[in-house]
Amino acid sequence: MGTTGRSLFLGAATLLVCHAAPAVAVTAPGRRLFPVLDRLPSSSAVALTFDDGPGAPTEAFLRLLEQAGATATFFLVGERVEQAPSPALEIVQCGHDVGVHGYRHRNHLRLPPWQIVDDLRRARAVIEDAIGRPTRFFRPPYGVFTLTTWWEARRQGWQPVLWNRWGRDWEPHATPASIARRIGEPEAGDILLLHDSDAYSAPGSWEKTLAALPLIFEQLEARKLAARSLGELLPDATRRGRGGEATSHAGQRHAYPALPEARRQPASTKERRGDSCAYW
Ligand SMILES: [Zn+2]
Repeated sequence: MGTTGRSLFLGAATLLVCHAAPAVAVTAPGRRLFPVLDRLPSSSAVALTFDDGPGAPTEAFLRLLEQAGATATFFLVGERVEQAPSPALEIVQCGHDVGVHGYRHRNHLRLPPWQIVDDLRRARAVIEDAIGRPTRFFRPPYGVFTLTTWWEARRQGWQPVLWNRWGRDWEPHATPASIARRIGEPEAGDILLLHDSDAYSAPGSWEKTLAALPLIFEQLEARKLAARSLGELLPDATRRGRGGEATSHAGQRHAYPALPEARRQPASTKERRGDSCAYW
């Protein structure tokens, strides 16, 4: 390889390393550089999160959460919301949170930066149009952050969120018992990852997740822990303040771009928290 070839190779390698830096940081001490929420400051609850919806199964999850008196955060995929906007609206009408999980469910390490930016902005527009309110939380597909993913998420004013317990419910051989076992014995402040859709995983996997939920709720009840949405457990920590400023869970202050006025309007739909979810 000549000098020019070596320079090009090193340049490409450097770009690749920079592109993937946060993906490495989420499993290394570099997490300080790219802070991502994977636990919460709570003494009495865990955060329940569902990825990859919405879709036809979402309503069954909402019913079960209602019966259990639980709330959750649903990380929605933009292309799924376009296909099924009404379940997205039902989620917030029933008192749960909605987060952004991208427009397409693609690994960002395989996308060029401009496609990542376009994907996240498109996801935000589609999801917020469907639910009629701003989004606060973001989790990339497969939990993989590139440098662009991380910066764009912060630019959008989103709190990046991962998890510290998962049910591996997307796997073909998962069972309700294995999902509950994988979740294990949750502690206060844990963030649990499950899926309310099989759109990007083994066909029918959502049925096993739904069947696992009562087992997980039993585990939580035995530990006197509630299942709550991220928004309920982070009342002040990452909420937007005046002038688009917010404070992260670690107490650092970040400047966020202000939302367009239209996006600040509260939804015209009724909050149903605490009451029967009268949508059905
Ligand atoms: Zn996903």
